[in-house]
Amino acid sequence: MKTPHHVVWLRQDLRSIDNTALVAACENPEAIVSALYIATPKQWLTHDVAGVRIDFEHRHLQTLHLSFATLGIQLVVLQCDNYAAIPALLCRWLQQHGVSALFANKQYELNEQARDQHVSSALANIGVASHWFDDLCIIPPGHVVKADGDYYTVFTPFKRNWLSIIEQHGIHVMPAPVPRKNRINAMLWSPWTYPASHVPESVSQHLWPVGEEAAQQRLLQFLDDDGAHYKDQRDLAAENGTSTLSPYLAAGVISARQGLQQARLRRLHANPQNSIGFDTWISELCWRDFYKHILVGFPHVCRHQAFKRETDQLQWRHDDALFSAWCEGRTGFPIVDAAMKQLQQTGWMHNRLRMITAMFLTKDLFIDWRLGEQFFMRHLIDGDLSANNGGWQWSASTGNDAAPYFRIFNPVLQSQKCDPDGRFIRQFLPELSALDNKQIHEPYAKGNAAVGLRYPRPIVDHNEARQHTLASFKALSLL
Ligand SMILES: Cc1cc2nc3c(=O)[nH]c(=O)nc-3n(C[C@H](O)[C@H](O)[C@H](O)COP(=O)(O)OP(=O)(O)OC[C@H]3O[C@@H](n4cnc5c(N)ncnc54)[C@H](O)[C@@H]3O)c2cc1C
Repeated sequence: MKTPHHVVWLRQDLRSIDNTALVAACENPEAIVSALYIATPKQWLTHDVAGVRIDFEHRHLQTLHLSFATLGIQLVVLQCDNYAAIPALLCRWLQQHGVSALFANKQYELNEQARDQHVSSALANIGVASHWFDDLCIIPPGHVVKADGDYYTVFTPFKRNWLSIIEQHGIHVMPAPVPRKNRINAMLWSPWTYPASHVPESVSQHLWPVGEEAAQQRLLQFLDDDGAHYKDQRDLAAENGTSTLSPYLAAGVISARQGLQQARLRRLHANPQNSIGFDTWISELCWRDFYKHILVGFPHVCRHQAFKRETDQLQWRHDDALFSAWCEGRTGFPIVDAAMKQLQQTGWMHNRLRMITAMFLTKDLFIDWRLGEQFFMRHLIDGDLSANNGGWQWSASTGNDAAPYFRIFNPVLQSQKCDPDGRFIRQFLPELSALDNKQIHEPYAKGNAAVGLRYPRPIVDHNEARQHTLASFKALSLL
């Protein structure tokens, strides 16, 4: 009998450990297994995928090739323009290589779901079976629902249910498959070019080392050194108080289950004082699942629509100059500007700063959250539709369980809280480094001798902007 040839199609799951589709593809010990990655540069452009993120995946695939080789699995990298071209490309390649079945983990965004449906029918037409798995979330969409079967829209009850399911069923992390008996070890790579992917070495290799081992190390080091203090440190911009695992989770270099399993282990052995740190971090993994479930339950959010549809009536301001000042970190609000520099220089931004900058764009400048969402996607190494859309709609008060519209962050007070000694601001805005710890948050405040400072004056008056935003939202509720 002919040796079966299975292909696992890698997308947001670029790993060998705890990969449901890979485990299924390897179940038959006789089968030859290949892993396939398909680069789609034109699709990435329409989805605003950041160059720094593509650079990360590109580098990671090279190390993944080596770990797959030790398992006797070849890694093949193909390229086509966009999703529409994938069914034909796959059919051709699978037929040429005598592949009998394709295995993949589901993605939940609308375009990705449509692509997979087309692939599934195209493969059925040529007699190749395709198998699709829930793997991306800790608990798959549709499994954490209200008593009436509807998706949750509020986080707290979602989390309660999510935790109780985990308590009941535990967490199962699958090891990497055992090396194949029948193996091929070639790496077949069609090189791709992506216009936005020039990334300085200092950002790419130094800040974001690739490989599953690097991700595991980052997880363990974070949990051992900072996990217990996470609750106290996570809102301090200058501390390394968060895991910085988001790029690895977004590309699937590590699974969220692995993170949860390790955090639960440490929580089990922690004293009650420290367990709160691990609990809080586990909550963040829950937010990740929550926003992915929202995409499935309320797919209109994938179509650039507000979760709360009535907020699409807001008359956002169109002002290119203000928007550019925000993008380039020239708003005259040091915490906002330093955060935007962090994004541009590192491809990443601290969560509290994402909230501050997003709130500033939408509530102080009253600019449409969709522009900010797009800008973030174009620059984030961890850009992810569900988390990014969720975060933006939270900040703009247009989303489910969002910040109420009247709770508008004061950027100066936020700055004093999240960067009390100005260390973060000084790192990204060296032109302000001579100011003292009080002045640095508001260089042009009355009484500050900010003479000769090469730093812009505030582009907006926070109190006036706040009144305008409150009035706009109030008018909406009267419509
Ligand atoms: C406006 C805005 C945009 C955002 N865009 C993204 C994005 O494109 N991609 C992204 O992964 N996260 C996004 N987030 C969520 C959050 O800011 C990042 O996940 C976090 O800063 C990543 O840093 P970390 O890995 O150190 O997180 P940690 O604090 O260590 O948290 C661990 C993991 O939990 C997940 N997580 C944490 N907070 C959230 C959250 N609020 N929503 C969903 N998942 C969360 C992430 O996968 C993160 O890596 C956004 C938040 C806001 C407010």
